[in-house]
Amino acid sequence: MKVCISCEADVSGRKAYPIKEDRIIGAVRTIKKSLGIAKMNELYVCENCLDKHKARRQSFEKSMLFGSVLGGLIVIVLLGLIVLSGKPDPWSIVSSLVIGGFVMALPLFRYTPAVQLPPPEPMPPSEPGPISPIPGGPGIKAAPRVRRKR
Ligand SMILES: [Zn+2]
Repeated sequence: MKVCISCEADVSGRKAYPIKEDRIIGAVRTIKKSLGIAKMNELYVCENCLDKHKARRQSFEKSMLFGSVLGGLIVIVLLGLIVLSGKPDPWSIVSSLVIGGFVMALPLFRYTPAVQLPPPEPMPPSEPGPISPIPGGPGIKAAPRVRRKR
């Protein structure tokens, strides 16, 4: 069944845009299959939900970027503090990596897959096609040079 991931309606026979299958969707499918709860629906976003979905996707991308920058900063600061403390123990290094990884993974809770939009329609040429040259009549043809007699 073709299903809109936003309104969960059946979109068969309606205009809808397919979801890009990425690693996260692949992983979710694998987990669901192994649990035996996979519905094997084809995922789409219907036309009505497209704008809403695009906005969600954009904010998800932003939070992914923000999460990885923030998570990286936290790891760097924590590791720096551990090194500065002069007594680095493996446990505090591991826990700072875990905290950083958790901050990086937080945006995944609002995961929004990308949509495969149809390529934009090619713009119609603004100028009309080249006008076929009018076959030159005898008047248009350059008069053959008459050689002057010396
Ligand atoms: Zn929908």
